[in-house]
Amino acid sequence: MAGKLLIIGFGPGSFEQITKRAREAIEESEIIIGYNTYVDLIAGLLSDQQIVRTGMTEEVSRAQEAVRQAKQGKKVAVISSGDAGVYGMAGLVYEVLMEQGWTREKGVEVEVIPGVSAVHSAGSLLGAPIMHDSCTISLSDHLTPWELIAKRVEAAGMADFVIALYNPRSGRRTRQIVETQRILLKYRSPDTPVGIVKSAYRDRQHVVVSTLEDMLNHDIGMLTTIIIGNSATKIYDGLMITPRGYQRKYTLGAETQPLKPHQRLKAEAEPWALDQVSEESDWEDFRDDEFEEEATPILKTSPEPAALSSLQLATEALRLVSQGNEKASLDEGFSAITATQSIFEFAVSPGIANKKMTAAQLCALGEIVGERGDIEYSPHHQLIVRVQTDSPNQITEELSALGLLLSPIGDVAQIKACDFCDLEKGESIPYAEAIHNRIGNLEVPKELKIGFNGCGMACYGAVSQDIGIVYRKEKFDLFLGGKTVGRNAHAAQPVAEGIAPEELVDLVGRIVERYQKEGHPNERFHKFFKRVKEIEGYRHQEMVGFVIENAACGD
Ligand code: SAH
Repeated sequence: MAGKLLIIGFGPGSFEQITKRAREAIEESEIIIGYNTYVDLIAGLLSDQQIVRTGMTEEVSRAQEAVRQAKQGKKVAVISSGDAGVYGMAGLVYEVLMEQGWTREKGVEVEVIPGVSAVHSAGSLLGAPIMHDSCTISLSDHLTPWELIAKRVEAAGMADFVIALYNPRSGRRTRQIVETQRILLKYRSPDTPVGIVKSAYRDRQHVVVSTLEDMLNHDIGMLTTIIIGNSATKIYDGLMITPRGYQRKYTLGAETQPLKPHQRLKAEAEPWALDQVSEESDWEDFRDDEFEEEATPILKTSPEPAALSSLQLATEALRLVSQGNEKASLDEGFSAITATQSIFEFAVSPGIANKKMTAAQLCALGEIVGERGDIEYSPHHQLIVRVQTDSPNQITEELSALGLLLSPIGDVAQIKACDFCDLEKGESIPYAEAIHNRIGNLEVPKELKIGFNGCGMACYGAVSQDIGIVYRKEKFDLFLGGKTVGRNAHAAQPVAEGIAPEELVDLVGRIVERYQKEGHPNERFHKFFKRVKEIEGYRHQEMVGFVIENAACGD
């Protein structure tokens, strides 16, 4: 009778997680060879098989014994936890066979039966941390030089892989995990989510979500797998979730997607792709960090597991704030925020045209922000306020009562008007306000700044905004598609002069509403204009100028 080697991964430990083929393979074997604990874990599946139990460090003799028995015509199961091909017995059995000159044609039959590896069982308990490119690194330096392990940790950290650490610590090997944390902190934020899973799908299962900075304050042992998130991994309701990048193309909160299925794979919808990057100099518009910073406006929850998601609340608040043309009041929008130890984040300014704050307004702001909140001076005529609060409504009421203008921050339309020469040249202010009332705070694919200057001097730089409006001789000039950031920033194109005041507000409204409807997620207005070629009859013209590569952040 021909012998056979069945190399079986039985998964993390519970019966439910063993594959059907693994069960059958155990049942059809005559001899089971495994480490004591593993034999105990599958005891329920055993009938009259002969059991060869060995200690943990006796893998080589286990593999040799298995090969010997199979050669004698026995069906031999070699069992590993998880997957037998991941730091398990599969490779070792093949190495013993190779030593003996085994071939597939002439030697004993070998079947490797896949199992659920610790990275996947731990990942499933943590949420969805492995969604993006990942690697496993075993911190055991019993068989691998530490220098090589450290190099791999370094490389994985640098390349922003999600990292699953196997064999992170044992009674004697305690420094490796400390060293690993030190290396990773060179490349990742101390707040990077880290999942620590002990005994996944076994009796003493224990799951902790921590951070790179804090991870060593938890119990880590021989039966622990640690998963370190990449730079985009989030903690959500106690779970670890790594975004795949859908946000770049899809509007996750919307029922109808701005990109139709046939558009999604078109080159212009993927400016970050290899074929595009060399031609497109401003691909960094789509960087993850920019998305992260800006796509979750208004409310951010602390890194502690929070009961409600910031994205969910912020999306709801924005939806209410800018419901089509019938905008709900800002207060209604903010009242959608059911606070749970949340950071309330909003922009505040003295008005559309007014640039001066009163002492009373500043005092009130200072009191609201207190010791723990902060106020940031932004480049957009607004102060960004962050404050931890349970009652955002009270804050908005108090500040609005003092005449301050409150706005959500993030990917919304904002009017950036001049001060109309200290309000002295103020004839066009009502139009700036009317535009604000029509499309201010409207949720758009990417932040949209509409510059509005009250005379031909345009000293507040309206023409360098996404959309520029300049009042001159009782009429308006319109500029479209400024590139506001990057080394290759450029002014907007003059598309019309002498627009009648009664036409302006509707015209700008229609332009912004078209961008809102047809812009790709994260597509800046100038790129949108270039792509659609024509808006309201105004044709896009290629800008001739310096050819200069845009720089990635930090370059
Ligand atoms: N072949 C196994 C890995 C064996 S190396 C697999 O594919 O999963 C042993 C390491 O695996 C342990 O130190 C631990 O890091 C991880 N591990 C195995 N089973 C686990 C479990 N049930 N829960 C958490 N980690 C586990």
